[in-house]
Amino acid sequence: MTAKQRSDCRVKGVNVHRVILGLLLTSWAFAGDPIPGRNRVPVGATLCVVWTVDIDEVDELTLRGKQVDAVHVKGQRPRRSTIEQLVPLPRRELGLFARFRRGRGKVEVMQDPSRANGYRAIVRVTDTKPGWAKQVVEIFYAPRPAAPPPFPVSLPEVRATTRPHFWGEQAGRVRALAAKSPEAFRWEGPVEGYAVLAVGARGLELLPSPDARAKTGKTSWGNPRFDGRYLALSVCDGPGHARVIQRMNVAGERRVLIEIRAAGACRLVGHMVPAAGVDALYPPPTELKEAWASARAAEAQGRLADAAAHWIDGAVRSARREPRLWAIEQFCRTQPYPGPELSILEKLTVKKLAAQESVAPMRGKNIVFAWPEDYLRANPTRWRFLAETDAAMEWLKRWTGKDQVRARRKRMISRFRVDKGGVALYVDFRLHIPRKEMRYPPDHGPYSHEVSHGYIGFPALSPTGRYNEGLTEVSRVAYWWFLGLDAQWQPFERRCLETLKRHYDEGGDLAGVPGYAGAAGVYLALARRFCAREDGSIDWHRFAALFRAAGPQKGFDRLAEAAERAFGPDARALIKQLRLP
Ligand SMILES: [Zn+2]
Repeated sequence: MTAKQRSDCRVKGVNVHRVILGLLLTSWAFAGDPIPGRNRVPVGATLCVVWTVDIDEVDELTLRGKQVDAVHVKGQRPRRSTIEQLVPLPRRELGLFARFRRGRGKVEVMQDPSRANGYRAIVRVTDTKPGWAKQVVEIFYAPRPAAPPPFPVSLPEVRATTRPHFWGEQAGRVRALAAKSPEAFRWEGPVEGYAVLAVGARGLELLPSPDARAKTGKTSWGNPRFDGRYLALSVCDGPGHARVIQRMNVAGERRVLIEIRAAGACRLVGHMVPAAGVDALYPPPTELKEAWASARAAEAQGRLADAAAHWIDGAVRSARREPRLWAIEQFCRTQPYPGPELSILEKLTVKKLAAQESVAPMRGKNIVFAWPEDYLRANPTRWRFLAETDAAMEWLKRWTGKDQVRARRKRMISRFRVDKGGVALYVDFRLHIPRKEMRYPPDHGPYSHEVSHGYIGFPALSPTGRYNEGLTEVSRVAYWWFLGLDAQWQPFERRCLETLKRHYDEGGDLAGVPGYAGAAGVYLALARRFCAREDGSIDWHRFAALFRAAGPQKGFDRLAEAAERAFGPDARALIKQLRLP
């Protein structure tokens, strides 16, 4: 039960209720949700109460007619509470609004006066920091606003998926191999964290990883043939995942690398299966037959750069997941390492970076990793990561049609920063990754955002800087999608939409969206509404219509116009519903 004491007095012709109260209340546990959007006081609202008080954690004010009571809810009791009632609360169905004149934490309207509750309204003040803080709260009433239409997009399901068979990325058993093939090896051993098994002509080796404890384990070796074959896993048992991270590369790495992320004993059985048999499992879709045939022909003639170009072309054009990932896989296998020579400018940049910390360049087609030498040495899957990043950049280029890196005749140079800030800075197509973000194995997370900046820059779509960052976050979702990293893009997309939904439900407009995520939510709402496919993924090829529809001018109206040009009048209506400022 609520226990409270109250003493009233009069000052300057207004009612002042001096309140000293306390005792633990049970109301906290049963409190409903605050009414969204009640910090935005409408024009013409009547100021009825000003509450000046020192609050420790949570206190409430209840208003009913001429009566105003403070109710202590949580934490230490309030101090120096002064309530000025300017006008009584009418006995009508009304909307209450509250805001800080001064204060920290939050003020929320918990209940509007209505016939059902005897015209009693409740306002709650929460101080989120330790100790008392002086709060001055203004409470208004106005006609009750109509409830806004529900958030126009339903939040997508997050489904657990892994990349398909040829990546060998799965927990537990791999699906049956296409052709019966003799065992190449068996390996059993404990892995805590992350480890890499290297399989080459001379045998099998567990590569030391700085972040993991792995033991050599038991090995049996079938002396397999490597030429014209792929390594496939028929068994990967253990509390974790294993995947073939790197195939034998024609020009570079001569070993197959299997990465294992696990916490305990693992068992792997590998086979070398004829490449033709595995290739036959992934026939090209009709529209890509030509690209794939050209890729194979180029490889057969030893023109690896051409083969890689055909594979990535196929991957970029393929909307379907399996053919896309298969083509990316082939791109990673055939891409000639290392990439084009460093230009004089790039050499100078790397030299400058090396003056701060010892870095070595790793050349890709679109990016140069200027990574610390010790990190490079200890990182067995670096080539695969470089190839994947390059592949994703090929996608971003074609998807957005805006290759700002190329326009400046540069490649991106990814460096790292030795700083405590931990913020990845993006400067003039040099990509800064803080040292602490440089994990083993490298993670697309920090790279995807920064790399995306090189391909995103549409004034009409980005009314403010925050929206430019938001669009970059969307572009990173597409980057992850392209690489088949569903475990990354799905929860991220959902989080952005949730952020926007919360803001919308609270009555916020497009100018006030919180952070990069809230801004990203606006584009993702368009993507969900107008580009979603039946399987729950987004047709990013279709979404690209928005880039093509973007004019040169800035502004929220321009964004709405572009949305209409790309997806029709419903898209403009959606932007409007999200509240143009
Ligand atoms: Zn950014």
